[in-house]
Amino acid sequence: MAVIAGNWKMHMGPKETTEFFADFTPRASSDELIVFPPALSLAAAVSCPDRAPHVQLGVQNIHWEEKGAFTGEVSASMAAEAGAAFVLIGHSERRHVFGETDEQVAWKIAAAGRHGLIPVVCVGETLEERRGDRVAEVILGQLDAALHALTDGDGRFLIAYEPVWAIGTGETATPSDASEAHATLRSRLEERLGVGAAARVPILYGGSVKPGNAAELLAAADVDGVLVGGASLDPESFSAIASAAE
Ligand code: PEP
Repeated sequence: MAVIAGNWKMHMGPKETTEFFADFTPRASSDELIVFPPALSLAAAVSCPDRAPHVQLGVQNIHWEEKGAFTGEVSASMAAEAGAAFVLIGHSERRHVFGETDEQVAWKIAAAGRHGLIPVVCVGETLEERRGDRVAEVILGQLDAALHALTDGDGRFLIAYEPVWAIGTGETATPSDASEAHATLRSRLEERLGVGAAARVPILYGGSVKPGNAAELLAAADVDGVLVGGASLDPESFSAIASAAE
């Protein structure tokens, strides 16, 4: 069963969130669906009577500390208490716009684990790194930095391969680019976790996924689902992407 996740980024306030689910729910397929609203809209999503139970919720970021003088931040325990089951960690916008480091990514994964949040850890190369033939080096470096924290606990986690040059740009990796990167990640997971455990880690592709390209990406080898940004804001296009998984 494919995992279809939507990252709303800094879009959709509480009112729009409620309206989204009223429109989306009748269209929602039964694949595993996860929506990452902005933290301030999580409560509206949790309490929305129109949200089907198989549409799970997450937050887009957490701080690694439990509490303290970190103005503007949200802790893992707050996110869990507010109803998040998942958390995006190391999204390329966090890494490249906010300067998040591999070390901070690992701290956040550990914080998620302490509070039962399932991490969706994002990795991906920039265009310059791809042109320099460094895709495997970059994504394996990011995965390795996350893996010790991921394997510390015994909980579930997901990986999202999101080439930075494909996020919000309209440029999409080809299904074979995605498969190649996913196979690279999967073989590192196999080395570290064993073949059986590695096969159970969903690896999602993200980067300009749309209704028109979702089916071929979802059919590609080693692609277990998609993480969708822009196209997840519209109930019609997000549900069309979910249907492409069937
Ligand atoms: C994302 O935000 O994770 C993403 C993949 O965005 P988009 O689908 O808009 O490229």
